[in-house]
Amino acid sequence: MGLIDFLYPPKCIGCSEVLSVAEKKARAKGADALCPNCRAEFERDKLKICNRCGREMIDCVCSKSRLHGVGCSELLKLTKYGDDPEQVVKKLIFCQKRNNDRRCERFLSNQISFLVKRLISDDASDFCITHIPREKRNIVLYGYDHAERLAKSVSEICGVQYVPLLDRKKKGKEQKYLDGEQRAKNVRNVFSISRSAEQYKDKNIIIIDDVVTTGTSMAECIRQLRCEGFEKIKGICIAVT
Ligand SMILES: [Zn+2]
Ligand SMILES: [Zn+2]
Repeated sequence: MGLIDFLYPPKCIGCSEVLSVAEKKARAKGADALCPNCRAEFERDKLKICNRCGREMIDCVCSKSRLHGVGCSELLKLTKYGDDPEQVVKKLIFCQKRNNDRRCERFLSNQISFLVKRLISDDASDFCITHIPREKRNIVLYGYDHAERLAKSVSEICGVQYVPLLDRKKKGKEQKYLDGEQRAKNVRNVFSISRSAEQYKDKNIIIIDDVVTTGTSMAECIRQLRCEGFEKIKGICIAVT
């Protein structure tokens, strides 16, 4: 055991239990950030049944009405939020947003990569990955854009080009305090298309987000991309509510 591990024993992101030596070895190989119990819960959650299509969440592509409104009929996801505030996926997403925790990021990006690989089939060169830029105030507060980190990491794992297609140009209110209608108004024209985007118009664009609630931010990004002539856009997220 190294000194760092001795002083700061690695803990499960789901339940804060100190990880055993075996789990630490697995983690060293980039495998895990969760104890066996939390890992099992996470895997079970992926198999929850979607009450719209009857498929397991991991196979469900049900979209949100706002996303349908901008022509995005498929949203891939790993799981859905339940009622439990202690749900492992919530802990992971919270941690990835705030704690600058690389093993959490690695775990989540590996998970998202399964979905991306399913989309790209054999020709990755036709695809680009992008992200929804984080609010500027939160970049200042936490020191990084968690969505950008996730998208870049997924891009490396899948061998799909990462391109920052979107910019956040003005300050909106924080989305989580607003209802559906307010959210839509709040994000209207918040995003713009970056200058270098033009050359990627013919590509299949994969937008990655952590949680899709009403789909307002993602829908607005897709709307902007469509206005600029992008046609093939798909959304992927970790969890839907
Ligand atoms: Zn745990
Ligand atoms: Zn479904």
